[in-house]
Amino acid sequence: MAGISENLEAVRSTLPPGVGLVAVSKFCPVEAIAEAYSCGQRAFGESRVQELARKAVDLPADIAWHFIGHLQTNKVRQVVGIASLIESVDSERLLRIIDAESERAGKVTRVLMEVHVAQEATKSGFLPAELEALFASGFYRSLKATHICGIMGMASNTDNRDRILADFTAIADCRRRIAALCPDLTGFDTLSMGMSGDYLLAIECGSTLVRVGTAIFGERHY
Ligand SMILES: *Cc1c(COP(=O)(O)O)cnc(C)c1O
Repeated sequence: MAGISENLEAVRSTLPPGVGLVAVSKFCPVEAIAEAYSCGQRAFGESRVQELARKAVDLPADIAWHFIGHLQTNKVRQVVGIASLIESVDSERLLRIIDAESERAGKVTRVLMEVHVAQEATKSGFLPAELEALFASGFYRSLKATHICGIMGMASNTDNRDRILADFTAIADCRRRIAALCPDLTGFDTLSMGMSGDYLLAIECGSTLVRVGTAIFGERHY
């Protein structure tokens, strides 16, 4: 597939050590993912359960699938069996169900809490204050089979650099405040933020994991 290996190399060359790359492969054919895989890429991001399940069967078993879309509670069981990281936990109820399904499956599921700071009402996630209050309540101590590894967020969809910086700063601050509130919350280190158009700014604001689709695979055809 034209350009994928070059695009991947170009993106990688801009990432400082310690920043992970999720190649967002939603809506991309398996051939495109296989091409990126052949260049050593192992983490891929998908946003729909059926598509993830189908691709996971067709592609190598050592791929680390990241689930990055809105997850319906009735589809948790399927995702728990496949995903290496569920990045988009947007309600306490969803987290409880992930925990129950993980326990049932005899595995520990790694998740990120999704925080909403962007201006678009269409994006999901907890407001920072809401998420901080939830952690302050100590609810996470009752989880049996879930490891909360950090938070995920998106900046507003705008060309306004100051706005994007403010959004990423708010997401990074939210993670830092939660870590300070909950010293017993170990391994809460992942800050997943930054997409094709804004990942360099996200890294400046402390991102440890960028989710890049278009800059690797080209424009998506929905
Ligand atoms: C689609 C998507 C991305 C990738 O967006 P690009 O602009 O194509 O890099 C990243 N994060 C989430 C949550 C997405 O849904």
